[in-house]
Amino acid sequence: MTLPKNTHEMRTLQSVFDAFPVTPSSRGKKLITRAFIMADKAHRGQKRASGVPYIQHVLATAQILAGIGMDSRTVAAGLLHDVPEDTNVTLEMIEKEFGSDIARMIEGITKLGKMKLRSETDDYKLENWRRMFLAMGDDIRTVIIKLADRLHNMRTLEHLRPDKQQRIANETMEIYVPIANRLGIGEVRAALAENAFKYLDKESYLATKKISEEILSKKSAYLERALADMKKILKEGNIKHVDIHGRAKAIYSLYLKIKKHDGDVSRVYDIIAVRIIVPDVASCYEALGVIHRRYRPMVGRIKDYISLPKPNGYQSLHTTIFGPEGQILEIQIRTRQMHDEAELGIAAHWLYEERKRSGWRSYLDPRKKNHEISHEVKWAKQLREWQKDLGNNPDEFMEGLRVDFLQNHIFAFTPKGDVIELPEGATIVDFAYAIHTDIGNTAVGARVDGKMAPLDSIVSNGQVIEIVTEKNREKPNTNWLTFVKTSHAKSAIRRQNKSPNL
Ligand code: MN
Repeated sequence: MTLPKNTHEMRTLQSVFDAFPVTPSSRGKKLITRAFIMADKAHRGQKRASGVPYIQHVLATAQILAGIGMDSRTVAAGLLHDVPEDTNVTLEMIEKEFGSDIARMIEGITKLGKMKLRSETDDYKLENWRRMFLAMGDDIRTVIIKLADRLHNMRTLEHLRPDKQQRIANETMEIYVPIANRLGIGEVRAALAENAFKYLDKESYLATKKISEEILSKKSAYLERALADMKKILKEGNIKHVDIHGRAKAIYSLYLKIKKHDGDVSRVYDIIAVRIIVPDVASCYEALGVIHRRYRPMVGRIKDYISLPKPNGYQSLHTTIFGPEGQILEIQIRTRQMHDEAELGIAAHWLYEERKRSGWRSYLDPRKKNHEISHEVKWAKQLREWQKDLGNNPDEFMEGLRVDFLQNHIFAFTPKGDVIELPEGATIVDFAYAIHTDIGNTAVGARVDGKMAPLDSIVSNGQVIEIVTEKNREKPNTNWLTFVKTSHAKSAIRRQNKSPNL
């Protein structure tokens, strides 16, 4: 294998390697280098709208993917993602050289890119969503590459015409940001939202950025002292920490939060926060204890998202204290795994695979046996299935999407302690169908936290629900269609009654 000599691109390829949280294996590096050489040759002579060589775009995409911990194959696919669409090199040639796994990812991205860009109609949005779901059901990595691709396009949006800027920024906010959010990739979500915000509402963007910068410069010296103080308190309490750092709230989140408080910035307490990463769950609570012994917590601001995770799975302990020097300060405490999952979401799965490979076993939270990806993938497959059922009814598809995919989720438990995830507003019948279609079909009643409850009751977070079934029931009640929330329950009830047009 001959490498191009010390070109600017080769140095950038090095920065792709450097972006990995865990150094890739030499096999992985070879694969990425081969992908780079093919992409570099194929795109030679092509330029971006900004005038820089096109290869810079795919290198930037690969760098984002490496940075969130994706595996070498996904990074290689990121380097090749625009090749079949924009160059003479075909998908068949890629498959021959790199195998079907990488070729299928690139095929998925090419399909997503082929959508004709028409006017900003609802139909266009619907079509866009549909394709994203199809891709997600096939291979979720395709969508992650697409998010990285879009992030670099957003970062270089200034070089496009204003009308294109608006259209792309709009699409980013409406489709890519919610998907990144749902996949839990916090870093990418925040960066996409900030860049889109800049084009969609420049005035608010600049105003929010100014507020953020003012507070950061005013508080940075204080934050340093507070960090030193926290380290001291933890040390005195004999609590080990893996990391302790300050964090600033992302611009778009800050904007939403200020808006929620009717523009009153002084009521937003978490513009800066101290983040403490500890080795295990027990240390999270111990750290909270020693901090509260030293500084009085603000009433109603202690949040245990470890026992009750946020709807998107986020876990941490939060508290707001009357902290060092009498200043109000938010503290966030979590394990390393919770931290990675908060920043990387589903991408953390590949990071853990890499860490396991490099022998970093002790790293995983022993309370969680394995970091499981199957749940998210199952979820994507399920969406795909019902989108087939509802294929001819765009309104219902959009409504189902809004409810199942974008709305906040709650967690309820079976008597055995299995967690069932449901959208807010879901009923007992939705819960029953989420356990198993047969349980939904034969449900006749339920006990919620030990008390009998009607089947149309709304499920709340943390409830333990036991479904009472009657085995010989023939069909689910079609009246249930008037109150069930999830598309899965709806299509199951219809299927069982064999009348899709109900
Ligand atoms: Mn691209």
